[in-house]
Amino acid sequence: MRDPDCLFCKIVAKEIPADTVLDRDDVLAFRDVNPQAPTHVLVVPKQHLPSLEAVGAGHEPLLASLVDAVNEVARADGVDGGYRMVTNVGRAAGQSVDHLHLHVLGGRTMTWPPG
Ligand code: 5GP
Ligand code: ZN
Repeated sequence: MRDPDCLFCKIVAKEIPADTVLDRDDVLAFRDVNPQAPTHVLVVPKQHLPSLEAVGAGHEPLLASLVDAVNEVARADGVDGGYRMVTNVGRAAGQSVDHLHLHVLGGRTMTWPPG
């Protein structure tokens, strides 16, 4: 449920402060400390899951809640209708914190493909 060495578990437990934008029973959303766009929010499950690869059967309600939280964050920041949701899996993809998080990026024009 919780990894004692995990940065985002500590943020979920409020042991490390974060600029929280949404707090639900199962999901927390907070602003990225190093924003890459005017809106850059991380949406995380409160339970420790290392990445999207740990998600499978039985996680449907959590997935729905995560996506609903992404949309609520986008609406609250006024970027609904034009945002990007990204999740990095593994070092090769740029994952640096091993607790599942969905990046919500918006407020500027996005390019494709990502780097
Ligand atoms: P990843 O590279 O794993 O996809 O994304 C991790 C994100 O967490 C990065 O965008 C990084 O800026 C952010 N981050 C790292 N440490 C902290 C922190 O202590 N607080 C917050 N709010 N964001 C953090
Ligand atoms: Zn964790």
